[in-house]
Amino acid sequence: MTEPMNTPFLSGMHALVTGSTSGIGLGIARALAKRGCGLTLNGFGDEAEIAELCDELAGIASAPVAHHPADMRDPVQIETMMREAAAGRGTIQVLVNNAGIQHVAPIGEFPVDQWNDILAINLSSSFHTIRLALPAMVEAGWGRVINVASAHALRASPFKAAYVSAKHGMAGLTKTVALETAKQNITVNAIAPGYVETPLVAGQVADTARARGITEEEVLRDVMLLAQPTKKLVGIDEIAEFAVFLCTDAAASITGTVLPMDGGWSAK
Ligand code: NAD
Repeated sequence: MTEPMNTPFLSGMHALVTGSTSGIGLGIARALAKRGCGLTLNGFGDEAEIAELCDELAGIASAPVAHHPADMRDPVQIETMMREAAAGRGTIQVLVNNAGIQHVAPIGEFPVDQWNDILAINLSSSFHTIRLALPAMVEAGWGRVINVASAHALRASPFKAAYVSAKHGMAGLTKTVALETAKQNITVNAIAPGYVETPLVAGQVADTARARGITEEEVLRDVMLLAQPTKKLVGIDEIAEFAVFLCTDAAASITGTVLPMDGGWSAK
């Protein structure tokens, strides 16, 4: 077996990454592009910036890259995205379910619309993309489904009822679909990151430092990373490169897993 991680081994393939206009999803899209993979990006953002991003990634991949603005809350828009993506760039053989949002509130005050949105985006959208992508993966005889879950797929925290429920649900969905596709050269896995170094988290660190009158280092060590033994944020690249690894032949027997990348959080 050759070592493909540094080669364009996904050349000729097509990956769809939900929520890939920023953060972890964009990091995964970029890492797949480096391996020659054509892409469908999805997510919100400024149209001109997204068009530039598509051009940049198409240049890196030497393959077609397009964006679909489907709202992951809406099964009809998801169906349209899956149909148009496959028609435009061929069978989706790598599906990355990454779109996600968060809302923090005690259960008695948890806004019902936030509960519905979080369940729809963080869990149900993956049910829809998977059910729509699988038949073509089966026909192609190869597929990779990578679900970006969270340490909250394995552990709970107070005030995050919807997020924790959705991410635990994603773990169940991952295991179930892995069993259903086990004999078809399709693997289905979830990555479960702890706190990741995204622009959103960096902003939260700065805000908390200001609000509490402490340094950013203290926020990281004593507030945000209280549960994360390494006391370091997980790098987007670490997650992106692991997603690439899951696409290699060396990862063919890894299926149905919920793999923590959480600096030891879930070891406790
Ligand atoms: P982010 O806010 O940077 O990116 C979220 C992406 O989802 C964006 O592209 C956004 O446009 C898109 N999105 C949001 N609502 C959408 C909708 N209704 N329809 C379509 N797209 C939508 O967030 P991130 O930190 O990169 O998080 C990505 C994933 O990683 C999420 O599922 C999140 O739960 C998970 N995660 C993040 C962390 C962290 O510390 N940042 C930790 C563990 C897990």
